[in-house]
Amino acid sequence: METHTSPPASEDRQAIREAVRSLCKDFPDPYWRAVDKEERYPEEFVTALTKSGYLAALIPEEYGGAGLGITEASVILEEINHSGGNSGACHAQMYTMGTVLRHGSDEQKRRYLPAIAEGKLRLQAFAITEPNAGSDTTRLETRAERKGDRYVINGQKIFISRVKQSDLMLLMARTTPYEELKDKTQGLSVFLVDMRSVKGKLEVQPLDLMINHHTNTVFFDDVEIPADSLVGEEGMGFRYIIDGWNAERILIAAEAIGDGHWFTERASAYARDRVVFGRPIGANQGIQFPIAQAYAHIEAADLMRYQAASKFERKEKCGAEANMAKLLASEAAWEAANVCLNTFGGYGFARDYDVERKFRETRLLTTAPVSNNMVLAFLGQNVLGMPRSY
Ligand SMILES: Cc1cc2nc3c(=O)[nH]c(=O)nc-3n(C[C@H](O)[C@H](O)[C@H](O)COP(=O)(O)OP(=O)(O)OC[C@H]3O[C@@H](n4cnc5c(N)ncnc54)[C@H](O)[C@@H]3O)c2cc1C
Repeated sequence: METHTSPPASEDRQAIREAVRSLCKDFPDPYWRAVDKEERYPEEFVTALTKSGYLAALIPEEYGGAGLGITEASVILEEINHSGGNSGACHAQMYTMGTVLRHGSDEQKRRYLPAIAEGKLRLQAFAITEPNAGSDTTRLETRAERKGDRYVINGQKIFISRVKQSDLMLLMARTTPYEELKDKTQGLSVFLVDMRSVKGKLEVQPLDLMINHHTNTVFFDDVEIPADSLVGEEGMGFRYIIDGWNAERILIAAEAIGDGHWFTERASAYARDRVVFGRPIGANQGIQFPIAQAYAHIEAADLMRYQAASKFERKEKCGAEANMAKLLASEAAWEAANVCLNTFGGYGFARDYDVERKFRETRLLTTAPVSNNMVLAFLGQNVLGMPRSY
C-alpha cells in the first residue's frame, strides 16, 4: 500500500492517539526523570515504540512499515510529548524518511527499510550541521570525494544527535568545492551511511548539553563508504533535504503541541490544588489567565499544524503553513512552559515535578532543528516578498 494521499479519517487518528497514549503509560514520569538524570538513552521506550510499529509509521507497508501519513506520524510524536516523554529520542527516523523514500534507490530501500521497520537497524542520526555551517547549510565543508567504487569523507560535524544509538546515518557532504559552483545550492550530496561497516576513522565525541539528547561532535578522517551509499544524484543533496523540511516542521509542531498540553494540564491541575492565602492559586487571575492564554495559543497553533498536514497529504504546496505551524507551536509551548513554571512557584525547580525537565526540553524546539529566525525569514522573504538577508 502507498502512503496516504489524503488525510486519514479522524477516527483512525483517534485510535492511533489512544494506542500511543496507552503505550506511553508504561513509561511514566519517574522513567523519563531517571533517564534524564542519568543522561541515559531511553532504550526501553524506543524498543517498545519500535515493536508497536509506530516508529515505522512512515515506512510503506511493502517494506514492512505501517504506511501511514504525516498526520498520523505527527499524532504519534505529539502523544509521546504529551505523556511527559521526549520524542527527541527517536524522531529522526521520521524526519529523514521522506528523503530516503523519495530519492533513495530501490536497492537502498530493500536493504534497509524492512530491517528498520523490524527494529533490527536504527536510522536515528541525521548529520548536517557543522561548526562553520549552521543555518547556512550551503556552506558545508565536509568533503566526500569519489575514488573508484567508494567515497572518502573528511571533515567535522557538530550537534549530531543519537550517532551512538544508530546503525545508519543520513549524511550531507560536499562533493564539489564551493568555489567551483555557479549555483551554490548544488555540489552537496546525501549519503545513507551504514556506520557498522565504514572504513577509516569515525570519531564521536559527546557534547555536554542542557538536555538529554545524545548529541555529538563527529570527526571524519578518511572515512570510506561504498559509492552506492549515495542517495539520488550527486550534487543534488541540498534540494533533497529541502524537500523534507515541510514534513519535519509539521512533526516538530506536533511535538510542541504535545508539550504545550502537558504544561497547561499540569499547571491547571496544580493551580486547582495548591492553596495559598486560604484559596486555590488558580482562582487568582494572575495564575489562571496566563494558563488560559497559553492554552488558546496552543489550540490555535494546532489548527495550523492540521492545515499544514492536510495540505502535505494532498501533495499541495504547504511551505507557509508548515513553517507557521512550527513557529506558532514552538512559541506556544515555550509560553506554556514559562506559565507552568510560574504556577508551580519554587516546586517548578524541583526535579521531582518534571516541570524543569520539560521546560528544558521544549526550549530546544524554538532553535533546532531549525531556528525560528529562519522560519520568519522564510515567511518574510518567500511569502511576503521582502528582501533577503542571505
Ligand atoms: C540539542 C541539539 C540537537 C541537534 N541535533 C542535530 C542533529 O541531529 N543534526 C544536525 O545536523 N544538527 C543538529 N542540531 C543543530 C541545529 O540544527 C542548529 O543548532 C540550528 O540549525 C542552528 O544552527 P547554529 O546553531 O549553527 O546557529 P547559527 O547558524 O550560528 O545562528 C545563530 C543565530 O543567528 C540567527 N541567524 C543567523 N543568520 C540569520 C539571518 N540571516 N537572519 C536572522 N537570524 C539569523 C539564527 O537563527 C540563530 O538564532 C542540534 C542542535 C541542538 C542544540
